[in-house]
Amino acid sequence: MHEARYWEARPDGRILCTLCPRECRIGEGQAGFCFIRQNRGGRLVSLGWGRSTGFAVDPIEKKPLNHYLPGSRVLSFGTAGCNLGCRFCQNWDISKARLDDLRSREWDPARVVDLAVEQGAPGIAFTYNDPIIWAEFAIDVAREAHARGLFTVFVTSGYVSAAPREEIFAHMDAVNVDLKAFTEAFYAKQTLSHLAPVLETLEWLARHTRVWVEVTNLVIPGLNDEPSETRALAEWVRDHMGPEVPLHFSAFHPAYKMLDRPATPPATLTRARRLAMEAGLRYVYTGNVHDREGQTTWCPSCGEAVVERDWFAVRRTRLAPQGAPDKVAASPRRSDLAGAACASCGARIAGVFPEGQVRATSGARLPLGLGN
Ligand code: SF4
Repeated sequence: MHEARYWEARPDGRILCTLCPRECRIGEGQAGFCFIRQNRGGRLVSLGWGRSTGFAVDPIEKKPLNHYLPGSRVLSFGTAGCNLGCRFCQNWDISKARLDDLRSREWDPARVVDLAVEQGAPGIAFTYNDPIIWAEFAIDVAREAHARGLFTVFVTSGYVSAAPREEIFAHMDAVNVDLKAFTEAFYAKQTLSHLAPVLETLEWLARHTRVWVEVTNLVIPGLNDEPSETRALAEWVRDHMGPEVPLHFSAFHPAYKMLDRPATPPATLTRARRLAMEAGLRYVYTGNVHDREGQTTWCPSCGEAVVERDWFAVRRTRLAPQGAPDKVAASPRRSDLAGAACASCGARIAGVFPEGQVRATSGARLPLGLGN
């Protein structure tokens, strides 16, 4: 049983978990809201340490990350549970499950990294359920990955307290944060959490870390798709994170407790993308739909297609190497990272790119059938 970090014993015998703003008070034998942090004999244990509910080798575009080593494959895995209660969860089969229900297997950090190396994946992604709740294991795998020259990706809702946040992201190279809406009413009712801590995490990541950051907004018809909300969200990203932070508008599909809403029409995503670009964001994408225009990276200066994509596949690139990459995390010892420019006009394209050419890829996912 792996002892967790980020907790305090309370005088009444309960444990206060300080990992996320939910701050669960956990009695003996009980678990927190996320299911996988449990009070055993007055100590908080992480049931998620050393567990995986399944591995796959995914294109990095699936995270989604379009400006961090495009065309890379990442060994991806998650555990079970979540610290949010989204009624529309698109991964509810694992986020709402207990580890035992999913017959998860035990893994140590070195074996996870061995698997990535065997599969030819240069990076590891902590994803599928929110890795905040199993941060201790993600940090330990990230340490091992960096020691062996691999990069790390964190896919999260950003609902994390300030002190653990510092420690977690010191070990991550790139992150995609799900900004689920831009109203407190949505967060409170549809996710059982709050907007303010997520915005705080986003601003801190963009302004005070060396982690490459992209943002995703899942657009749900009738709940968070009003043009005024989309515009306000995009303006906030521009003003608090910067106009070069990529923003992805992703399509909702009916799932979990939200089966009464239709899937997001592609036209709604196209409109959101247009509004965000009008607000001044330079790299705005659509996701979960086939939309070559909305998934391609366009040079913000001359309008050339610099990375042509279709779904998760990279079809063609027109990039030229240019100097050092943007926001390289201090931890990995990688000399193969570079900045890039538009091959047509020479304008810099924000992000972290491979030193050589970005390869065309099929965008295929490879489930490994391990861990469950
Ligand atoms: S990480 Fe889990 S146990 Fe800790 S406060 Fe958040 S929901 Fe509660």
